[in-house]
Amino acid sequence: MKLIGDYHTHTVYSSGFRKEGKHATGTIRDNAEVALSKGLREIAITEHGPSHYLYGLREKRIPAVREEINRLNEEFIPKGLKILLGVESNLIGLDGTIDIEEESLKYIDFLIMGYHYGATPKGIRDGLGLYGLNPLSKCLSICEKKAIELNTKAYIRALRKYPIDMISHPGSKAKVDIVELGKETKKYGTALEISSKHSQLSVESIKLLLDMDIVYMVNSDAHRPEDVGNVENAIRKAKEANLPLNRIKNIEIN
Ligand SMILES: [Zn+2]
Ligand SMILES: [Zn+2]
Repeated sequence: MKLIGDYHTHTVYSSGFRKEGKHATGTIRDNAEVALSKGLREIAITEHGPSHYLYGLREKRIPAVREEINRLNEEFIPKGLKILLGVESNLIGLDGTIDIEEESLKYIDFLIMGYHYGATPKGIRDGLGLYGLNPLSKCLSICEKKAIELNTKAYIRALRKYPIDMISHPGSKAKVDIVELGKETKKYGTALEISSKHSQLSVESIKLLLDMDIVYMVNSDAHRPEDVGNVENAIRKAKEANLPLNRIKNIEIN
């Protein structure tokens, strides 16, 4: 089995309003060098979406990052590695709004949607629904049911609105009805991520989806260059759940 590409990696640009390098440590070049040394053919640089106060890439910087990647590609493509510009956008509205403006999408090769605490919600209702209930649902089961319902609906609405390539760590931080979400991703060919870093998708969640022919990706979610391409934990979960490995889009099976 061979990993073709790692489609979820962060660099110093995931730094929000803080000093660069606090949240993720490497540069784009650092991540690319590691990807190349591990024999990958593609790597996506996927900073946190702009609404994340602590970690988000400022939206106005996207064109400059695009240019940097274009320049680096002139050097790396002849060596066998293509660098993609992605973004790990945040779900910020109950109506499925994510924190990337329509016009920024033209710069992006790979669009991820995820849910993270610390993103600024679209409005007060969104804040209460998406960001108030999820932390509360950890201790209050009465909130959990409502949170799952609202989260799942919001994820599904986002899939209908945007050309989302992959959902990062689905079910981590915001619980979802994974079967309902899985059905919807199948319609659009959107991949569900099996993360090496996060608990979701868990073995149990993958098992619930086995009947459906869904697309998956295994990724590192590297925040340090040395973690780029580390997907062993994700592969282990897939195998433990008896997932047919040909459903994982970014590996080649010998
Ligand atoms: Zn994430
Ligand atoms: Zn991430």
